Amino acid sequence: MTVTVKFLGAAGTVTGSKYLVRSDKYTLLVDAGLFQGKREWRERNWNHPDVALESIDATLLTHAHIDHTGILPRYHAQGLSCPVYCTVPTHSLSKILLPDSAYLHEEEAEFRNKKGKSKHHPALPLYTVRDAESSLNLFQSVEFNVNVEILPGVFAEWRRMGHILGAASITLSIEDKVITFSGDIGRYSIPILKDPEPLELGDLLLIESTYGNRLHENDRPKEILTNVINDTVKRKGVVVIPSFAVGRAQLLLYYIRELKDQGKIPDIPVIIDSPMATDATATYKQHTEGYDKEAMAILKEGRSPFEPSKVYYTKDRRESKKLNGIDDSMIIISASGMLSGGRILHHLLHRISSPSNTILFVGYQPPGGRGDWILKGSKTLRLFGDEVPIRAQIEEIDGLSAHADRDELLRWCESCSGTPSQVAVVHGEPDSAKDFAETLKQKYSWDTFTPKYHQEVEV
Ligand SMILES: [Zn+2]
Repeated sequence: MTVTVKFLGAAGTVTGSKYLVRSDKYTLLVDAGLFQGKREWRERNWNHPDVALESIDATLLTHAHIDHTGILPRYHAQGLSCPVYCTVPTHSLSKILLPDSAYLHEEEAEFRNKKGKSKHHPALPLYTVRDAESSLNLFQSVEFNVNVEILPGVFAEWRRMGHILGAASITLSIEDKVITFSGDIGRYSIPILKDPEPLELGDLLLIESTYGNRLHENDRPKEILTNVINDTVKRKGVVVIPSFAVGRAQLLLYYIRELKDQGKIPDIPVIIDSPMATDATATYKQHTEGYDKEAMAILKEGRSPFEPSKVYYTKDRRESKKLNGIDDSMIIISASGMLSGGRILHHLLHRISSPSNTILFVGYQPPGGRGDWILKGSKTLRLFGDEVPIRAQIEEIDGLSAHADRDELLRWCESCSGTPSQVAVVHGEPDSAKDFAETLKQKYSWDTFTPKYHQEVEV
């Protein structure tokens, strides 16, 4: 009996996580991620995965981020029709994230057609909202820490990994082999979610390495947030925060609530101006079973950990635009977090030219993007066809990543029992994966390798 794993993504890159597991009897897909970021990777989203999609017997998802789920609607449109297993919160978040991803693909195709900017006529979206909604019908939720028989004689167990709500590692038992997929590993001692859980390692471990050779700077996010808010209020300005809608927005709400409770910042309005962040916050409020002790304690007081006083969720575009006419101090949290589109752009247009205001960055800004441009100290920004002067204060909090750094990755490895026979270091830029593979080899004598895109190994 042979079992093989083929690396269809997250090999030599942090994006497009998907692995094909094959035994004599079955074919399984673990994660179904979209390639994001660099064009050379994004173009691979259009390639057929080199396996008959109808022949896949089951798909398993570690968590709801699009780089782990976002190719599913396309695969489904091309024939994948097996059950898709994931935890209950991952299912809920996918209902928000997959249709949104589809909407962006449709919007991009429409834009290309209007501008005639495509090699293909007409330009087609990678998939449609209808594909995304149809793929959601395949989803079947599983509980954490239950060994589920997903196919006759094939078992899978999901264990908490912090990172985002619902995120899990998956331990797959197939034939006589045990394969562990770490998924994205979250951080220790960060508010809201429980810490990553240990497990028993088997024949093959696939471990992520986003920060495999780096440590997070301990830049005390709450202190920076306190200072930025107080200084901006003194100037009678507005704090504008571009934020990812899932995970980051909830962490900010958690911190702002805490700072208000402790009287460290004034009780100014907090506006969530992103439909996705609003929906994701509702999902975070619903799935309390994943909370850590501190978040649980707030809940026991009859309050939500994400509900600072004077928090307001905008209902529609009209309400969002209305904010432009308000000059009182407030905090606006809006998306997209990387300034690639969305409502954040009109907030920037209205706020970035006044020295009273602050633009506060709380997440990764890709090189060459608008955020990177602003953070580098540029004097103007091109927005909606105009060159807008940058006079607002520009601030940054670095330490809010949802990924374990090198020491936290090692902490998780040490918490696990058993010695894996092989370790594939995945989900990292080449240097990061290589360095982390070397670290694991030296520290634990693990037999590590960094797989290549489309490489297949026997377990
Ligand atoms: Zn993730």
